[in-house]
This record gives sequence, structure tokens and C-alpha cells, in this order.
Amino acid sequence: MKGVSKRLADKVALITGGASGIGESTARLFVRLGAKVVIADVQDDLGRSVCDSIIRSTDDSISCVHCDVSEEIDVEKAVEFTVAKHGKLDIMFNNAGIPGNSNPSILDIEREDFKRVFDVNVYGAFLGAKHAAKVMIPARKGSILFTSSVTSVIHGEVPHAYSASKHAVVGLTKNLCVELGRYGIRVNCISPYGVVTPMLRKALGDVQKEAVEEVVSAAANLKEVKVEAEDVAEAAAFLGSDESKYVSGMNLVVDGGYSTTNPSFG
Ligand code: NAD
Repeated sequence: MKGVSKRLADKVALITGGASGIGESTARLFVRLGAKVVIADVQDDLGRSVCDSIIRSTDDSISCVHCDVSEEIDVEKAVEFTVAKHGKLDIMFNNAGIPGNSNPSILDIEREDFKRVFDVNVYGAFLGAKHAAKVMIPARKGSILFTSSVTSVIHGEVPHAYSASKHAVVGLTKNLCVELGRYGIRVNCISPYGVVTPMLRKALGDVQKEAVEEVVSAAANLKEVKVEAEDVAEAAAFLGSDESKYVSGMNLVVDGGYSTTNPSFG
């Protein structure tokens, strides 16, 4: 029997937005669990430094490619790179995302801001799934994951485009689960809350890490647990591994009970 600590041994994963925050933490965890990982991100230097800090002398456990997920050619090349390097693709984690304009009033939202959020959060996720499916369908297996958000479950003082985009990701998850299930491909998403990453800090107006942590723990249900990016990475590891081989079409909410305790944001 495979040791629990290497439960992703033999798996090949492509992680978008893997240079920072939840994606970076997932890349680190997946490598520890035995997977080969490719990071696809627009932040090339950051992606490279994540790789450099993980890579060990002769091993090829992690590499990175430049990829803007809203550009189909970039996503196609990232998948091609992964398959050329490792011979297959088992886990496609469509995690890259942006918060967009933080102004909550509908009266102030411009089409371009709305469109950019959808281009990255929805179209980018769709492209990742599309090009992964091209590889996974002939293999008749695979796990496609998306990062949605707790904003797909509860509502309030959150940017409209962001909230709508994360609902769309849940819709994509459920619809693709139906089409791809017949090929043995599972499709799931994860909805985090309150992980202090550069994105969350920017969304809250570039406030200090400690200030964000205070707001998060005051609102969460599990007040004594400090959420880390690794808590979301663990959910991705479960959904990417064969331990979840009968789980598909799910939105796994990782929010310390926040959405159960709070009917809305703000
Ligand atoms: P982050 O800013 O630390 O990481 C996001 C990564 O995505 C960055 O490395 C960034 O360069 C990359 N990225 C942005 N646009 C891209 C593009 N067009 N192409 C490729 N890469 C791109 O933020 P994070 O909090 O780790 O966010 C990861 C995901 O988690 C996002 O989808 C976000 O919406 C979601 N999320 C985060 C939280 C949270 O509490 N932090 C809560 C709910 C959902």
C-alpha cells in the first residue's frame, strides 16, 4: 500500500496561479506528496523563485511556464509543456484568479473591469479545463479542479463581477462533471474564505496581514483556527488524489464554517 505521505506519487499536476498564495502552497504540498508539478502563472520571476526554493539538485519535480490563462495559446502551450515533460496530465488545477475593482456599487462598474474579471476567472478556468480535457479524454481519467470562492455561497459587500465569476465557476464545475464523467474525468471546485494572500490583501485595500487575520478570525466559526493557504491545498490534494475517486461535481467549501454561520457578508 502506498504511504499516505506520498499519496500523489505518479501524479502530474498543472497549477495555474501557482506562483503565489493558494496555488503556491498547493504546488509545495503536491511536490511533498510525490507529484510532478508545473506552475503556470503571469508572474514569471515569482514562479521561478518558487521552483528554485523547491527543486532539489537533479530532480524535475517542479517547473514553471509563463501563462496568461485568459490567452488560449498560453494555456494550450502550458498543457503541451506539461505532457511533453512528464508524459501525461492527471490533475489540472485552474486556480488563477483576480479580484477586480473593489468598488461594490453597480453604478460604478465599467464593462472593461467586469470583462477582465470574467476573462481570467471564468474564461481562463474554462480554457484550462478544455485543454486538459483534450489530454484526459484519451487517457480516460483525470481530475479537473477550480478555485471558486465562498462568494459563490454567500453574498453581500463583495465586488459584483468577482461574485458572479465565482458562481460561474461552480456552474462550469457541475456542467463539465456531466460531460466529462463518461470519460472517467472528475470535476470539482474548492471555495475558500479568508486566506491571507496578496490577492485578499489587495481586495481589502492593501491592509496589513495581521489586520486581515483579525477580521477573518472574528467572522469565522472556527475562531481558534488560523486559516492557512495550506488548508486549501489539502482540499486540492484530496480532490486530486484517488482517495476522492467517487467525488465529482462538488463545491468543497473551505471556510471554517463561515458560510454556515453568516447569512451574508458585511
Ligand atoms: P494570489 O494573488 O496570492 O494568487 C493568485 C495568482 O494568480 C498569482 O500568482 C497571480 O500572478 C496569478 N494570476 C493572476 N492573473 C493571472 C492570469 N491572467 N494568468 C495566470 N495567472 C494569473 O491570490 P490567492 O488568494 O492565492 O488566489 C488564488 C485563487 O483563490 C483565486 O482564484 C481567488 O479568487 C481564490 N480565492 C481566494 C480566497 C482567499 O481567501 N485568498 C478566497 C476565495 C477564493
